[in-house]
Amino acid sequence: MAKITFPPMGHYSPAFATLLRELGHEVILPNPPTKETLSLGTLYGPEFACLPLKICLGSYVESLERGAEVIVTSGGVGPCRAGLYGTVQREILKSLGYRFEMIVLEPPRRHPLELLKALHRLDAFRRAPWQLVNTAFKTWEMIKALDRLERELHRIRPREAEKGSAEAVYKRGCRAIGAQDTVAGIRKAAEEALADMRRVPLDPSCDPIKIGIVGEIYVLLEPAANLKIEKTLGELGAEVDRSIFLTGWTRENVVREGDNQTAREAAYPYLCEMIGGHGQDTVGHTVMYARQGYDGVIQLAPFTCIPEIVAKGVLPSVSRDLDIPIISFFLDEQTGEAGFRTRLEAFVDLLVRRREQRRLAG
Ligand code: SF4
Repeated sequence: MAKITFPPMGHYSPAFATLLRELGHEVILPNPPTKETLSLGTLYGPEFACLPLKICLGSYVESLERGAEVIVTSGGVGPCRAGLYGTVQREILKSLGYRFEMIVLEPPRRHPLELLKALHRLDAFRRAPWQLVNTAFKTWEMIKALDRLERELHRIRPREAEKGSAEAVYKRGCRAIGAQDTVAGIRKAAEEALADMRRVPLDPSCDPIKIGIVGEIYVLLEPAANLKIEKTLGELGAEVDRSIFLTGWTRENVVREGDNQTAREAAYPYLCEMIGGHGQDTVGHTVMYARQGYDGVIQLAPFTCIPEIVAKGVLPSVSRDLDIPIISFFLDEQTGEAGFRTRLEAFVDLLVRRREQRRLAG
């Protein structure tokens, strides 16, 4: 048994913790990243590194200080830096004097053998394959439940009569789902949380604008990286749809081609190459949001993220051709919350006025 930790990533910590506990480890849960976490990552990481590397590096330092002996992280493929993160972070942390093991889980469709070896290394109990399948299934159910609840939060939040009530129900639901240790328990907790969410009193006069959020996976999934953009937009009266959830990403990368395949087809007239990261998906999802009648699209990316820089270069053509407003935010440790919120308020105002003008015109 080892004391094990992993990168912070949105609301998924309970699911990752369940998986690692069942594999026989003591879990050091990563704390939700704070400004201090990012400061540590900025201090020790290369200046030119992208934001996810810095947040995760800072989080690893915090977890190692709390006793972690093993770090489990994800690998990556494609023409960007994601595949090197594990190596770079390991070398930085070792140069700081930390003694630990780093296990990198590579994408299964590209590196199945490396992934199996890493999973074998992680299985402290050396259990039978059917027991491992059972553990994986339970983790999957938890991730699905958490994603369903978050989607409902995005729908309810702009409509709630009392600000903050949906968020309170959501947090309670996440805790209840994370506390379950059977598939039946997870499903029951999810249904109860969803029912509670649907009982949140709504403002009947509310008619929220709809905004699609596209971009790089880590800044989409980790609220500390995107300055809680979904919460801010919900409070401003916008219903958001995020183009990436871990359930969708897993189906895409583990099981079969899914929604992202459709996104790549949608991107094809504008960007026909896989350029690494989620650049092509960013373009494709923007096209899809425009076709579905969304009022606007927000692109989120870490500063210096190459695939998203390429996508940003293509998005003005999508905006012009499909008549949809798009705004891009490139985030790093210098991004201030007040300025970020001001730009979001201006974008939401623009979308509301635009919709009113269209209604008057027609
Ligand atoms: S996708 Fe962007 S943020 Fe992620 S590793 Fe590649 S360059 Fe960095």
